[in-house]
Parts: sequence; C-alpha cells; structure tokens
Amino acid sequence: MKIKALYPGSFDPVSNGHTDIIRRASKLFDEVVVLVADNKNKHYTFTCEEKVMMLKTVTKEFKNVTIDSYQGLVADYAKEKNCQILIRGLRLASDYENEITLFQFNRSLNPNLETIILFPSASNFFLSSSKIKELGQFGGSISKYVHPEIEEFIINKLQGKTK
Ligand code: ADP
Repeated sequence: MKIKALYPGSFDPVSNGHTDIIRRASKLFDEVVVLVADNKNKHYTFTCEEKVMMLKTVTKEFKNVTIDSYQGLVADYAKEKNCQILIRGLRLASDYENEITLFQFNRSLNPNLETIILFPSASNFFLSSSKIKELGQFGGSISKYVHPEIEEFIINKLQGKTK
C-alpha cells in the first residue's frame, strides 16, 4: 500500500525550516501533499495563491511532493484525499501545547489519520515565519532563512512594493 502524507500549515511564508521537513518527509513516504490551510478567521500577510506559488518554487526538485490549498478542516481534506499520515514540525516546548491539542482534535475527527512529528534540523530550531516577516519588514537580511528564488518576492511584499 502506498503511504500518502499530508503536511498542513500556514506557510506565511514558507521558511527553510518548512522545506527541510518537506524534504525529509518526501524520503519517508510515497507521496507528500503540502497543504496551505487557508483559515478565513486568521490574518495572513501573503495570499493563498502567493503561498502556493512560493511552495511550488521551493519544492520543484522533490518529485513526489504536490501543493494544494483548502479552506475547510485538515482532517476532512485528509479523508477526501486518502492521506494516512499527518506531518507536523515541533520546535521548542512552546509548540507542544498547540501540537498536542491539534493532534487530539484531528484524531477525534478522523481516527484513521496518524500524526507524525518531525523535529527541525539544528539550524532551524528558532526559525519561524513571523521572525522572517519581522526581519524583512525592518530591512534585515532573510537570505539564511528562505529559498533564494523567493527571497526578493518576500522582501517586496513585506516592504509594500507589491500589492
Ligand atoms: P501553523 O499555523 O499550522 O502552525 P506554520 O506554517 O507556522 O503553520 O507551521 C506548519 C508546521 O510546520 C507546524 O507544525 C510548525 O510547528 C512547523 N514548523 C514551523 N516552522 C518550523 C521550523 N523552523 N522547523 C520545523 N518545523 C517548523
């Protein structure tokens, strides 16, 4: 049986930490779907289309990875698309509460979906999309934290040079 894994998140924007998780998951599973979970109650800096475009750019070398977006519950998407595994990343202890709550919630909605946590590589432990946004907005370099092909796009967007 082929194992299809789902990696959902905001990806606002996708960081090298996310890409590292995607790369490692692509080696563990037959197929990986990276899902831009578009929650209308949350405020994002980047549009869903922009986030999908950035994810497609940074994952183009991974042949078993596809990108999609969804406005409903991740557990429902997994059912619809027959994904057996849900991947999440866990950085510091501060992520733990959110991740375990999400795990219990998803398990009650879809008991067939198993969550697997991947820990970040050492250089990505302190990396978050919000830190990238803070740096970029105030003129700091983000080149160590994002894929080179999307760096300029992110900076322009953060500094209001694109709509
Ligand atoms: P969400 O709003 O769903 O937390 P994020 O885009 O912030 O979306 O994160 C998606 C997943 O990736 C989460 O499980 C998060 O813990 C994980 N993640 C975020 N940043 C990193 C990182 N630097 N290294 C590894 N995992 C990360």
